[in-house]
Amino acid sequence: MRTLKFKNNDEMPAFGLGTWKSEQGEVYNAVKTAIKKGYRHIDCAAIYGNEKEIGEALSECFAEGIVTRKDLWITSKLWCNAHAKKDVIPALKQTLSDLQLDYLDLYLIHWPVALKKEVMFVSEKEDLISLKDLPNTVTWEAMEEAVALGLVKHIGVSNFGKKALEDLISNSKIKPEMNQVESHPYFQQEDLLSFCKDKGIHLTAYAPLGSSDRADKFKAENEPKLLEDKIIADIAKSKDATPGQILISWALHRGTSVIPKSVNPGRIAQNIQAEQISLSDEDMQRITDLDKNYRYLTGEHWVFEGGAYTLESIWS
Ligand code: NDP
Repeated sequence: MRTLKFKNNDEMPAFGLGTWKSEQGEVYNAVKTAIKKGYRHIDCAAIYGNEKEIGEALSECFAEGIVTRKDLWITSKLWCNAHAKKDVIPALKQTLSDLQLDYLDLYLIHWPVALKKEVMFVSEKEDLISLKDLPNTVTWEAMEEAVALGLVKHIGVSNFGKKALEDLISNSKIKPEMNQVESHPYFQQEDLLSFCKDKGIHLTAYAPLGSSDRADKFKAENEPKLLEDKIIADIAKSKDATPGQILISWALHRGTSVIPKSVNPGRIAQNIQAEQISLSDEDMQRITDLDKNYRYLTGEHWVFEGGAYTLESIWS
């Protein structure tokens, strides 16, 4: 199993299970099936609304002796309405209680965007708090405290661009060790990846299969379908693999972590098999040539006229 090494020599399995949109009623089976199939890394978040059910699956896996806590790498994320310094540890403790764990391996600031405490999902500009009023560096101080308290082993961020990372790096005691961002052949983020490498920050690729079909108002018409790409299909055919496996394998070959979501037992089993696939330099180059700079998750839901954030301020 490929791993990413952290500064203290802890190793994170590069391949993991995503759980966004893994509905209650199905995520329990997904997590248990995945662990039985050899998954050792689960990617969670408070806002996914399913951590309790994931916790039930984890605790059963421990009780049945399938794995021990030390065998697993569990990541979760701080939601945007708990960025105030006093709210971070309570939010983390809620996640730990829901997941039935004593500690997380990795805790991430989910977005470089702050919401008012009473707001779960943003619907108007008044829901937002600007970074001038609540900077990421203040939230980070509480993330550092979480490490000191032994509640988390490692801390990092998600959806951070270079500017936000630089700000955090120069204003922190513990440097972020992970940036979890969208990355796949149509949106490779090569520039951000090499910036992160230079700074000793690992990158986790989310939406590696092009994310799920979205029915929301931000979905673009004629959205390109990564899983139906002809080059990917061609490479898959030549390896007797599926397109999904090629996309996962490509992310692993690039040295990133990758966390495809599935609640389907067949696809859960299929996705981890991608670890066995070897891609040649030529395969890698053909896939690299597919970049369209196309984001599936645009972040537009944070942006309102006269609001605290612009796409430029979020992604740059
Ligand atoms: P993915 O790119 O992982 O795609 C998931 C979709 O692909 C689901 O519809 C799934 O359906 C389907 N699928 C899974 N395996 C295969 C396969 N082998 N062949 C064909 N279809 C397949 O999208 P996500 O957006 O879920 O991203 C992955 C994870 O990344 C999330 O679950 C979450 O943990 C994390 N994430 C983090 C974000 C952040 O802001 N930090 C944002 C977005 C995602 P089915 O379940 O039926 O198999």
